[in-house]
Amino acid sequence: MRGLIDTLRDHHKLASHEYRELLTMCAPEDVKYLMDQAREVAQGQFGTGIYLRGLIELSNVCRNDCLYCGIRRSNRNVSRYTLSRQQVLACCEQGYKIGFRTFVLQGGEWGEERSQWIADIIRDIRHGWPDCAITLSLGEHTRETYALWRDAGADRYLLRHETHNERLYRLLHPQGMTVQHRLQCLDRLKELGYQVGAGIMVGAPFQSLKTIVEDIQYLIEFQPHMIGIGPFIPQHDTPFARFPAGKVDLTARLYAILRLAQPQALIPSTTAMATLSPDGRLRGILAGANVVMPNLSPEDNRKLYALYDNKAALGAESAQGIKKLENELATIGYHIDWSRGDSPSTQK
Ligand code: SAH
Repeated sequence: MRGLIDTLRDHHKLASHEYRELLTMCAPEDVKYLMDQAREVAQGQFGTGIYLRGLIELSNVCRNDCLYCGIRRSNRNVSRYTLSRQQVLACCEQGYKIGFRTFVLQGGEWGEERSQWIADIIRDIRHGWPDCAITLSLGEHTRETYALWRDAGADRYLLRHETHNERLYRLLHPQGMTVQHRLQCLDRLKELGYQVGAGIMVGAPFQSLKTIVEDIQYLIEFQPHMIGIGPFIPQHDTPFARFPAGKVDLTARLYAILRLAQPQALIPSTTAMATLSPDGRLRGILAGANVVMPNLSPEDNRKLYALYDNKAALGAESAQGIKKLENELATIGYHIDWSRGDSPSTQK
């Protein structure tokens, strides 16, 4: 098994049955070796610094109907909100004071008629905080919309591909959504010069080892700058309410595999990890993740942005919360890196 791990570390690629072996191996010393190697590679790139991204949950209004997601259109039990421009800018103001240098605007997917409104906000952030990176995570849009937002000053875009497997994609999404379109969006984003993030949910209903391996292979082929992976967690008002949550262990193992495959990738230890386990976030970092995304959204809106149940809150939006995060990171020998944290592959 160590031979496989060394090969992945040195050549960044394996055959599909070899990924399967890494995903299923259970000897604790092999798992430890994988984690140790992943951490060493991450530290070779980023040291023991962890980048922060300030998440601003712009709106829970969504035209889409993804079967796993709590803010899907057909969920009538959500009261819908959209932050005002002033509220978004106030989040940035507060985040900047604490030290954040990346803001992530995430939200449900809107129609293209509102793209201009978002472009205006991007422009305001760009002018207000020229030294900050602006990341968007607003779903699938036309090339025109992506170009408009890029011109307005957005730097990065997170769009998890969710799965590369056509059949599984159809089982997770409403009719009309296709994996082809999702991947086309990712290609367009890259062409437009965004730093792009793709990724999956681990333990999504109907997922199998086979589809996970296909997703690893897609990620290695696509080479996103960022890789967003978190465990699936059921939300009680969705068709997947009764499915079990994904596993923290398997998610961490994927972080490690992808870290070895793509040493320079920015890999967040996601909120879903922290939701399933009190030490989930640290376990992600110990598996080679190097980013944490605290929530900067206004307190009152947070419970309305319920993609899944019991979402963890870090409290890092306050200076006090940051201290807590710092202390937590210190227990495993890490610290916050306050820089913008661009992808090493795009730095001059
Ligand atoms: N609407 C945007 C962004 C918001 S959703 C988009 O579609 O890209 C952001 C991510 O949350 C999704 O890509 C999905 O992978 C994840 N997510 C949604 N529902 C979830 C659930 N029930 N459990 C875990 N992750 C979930």
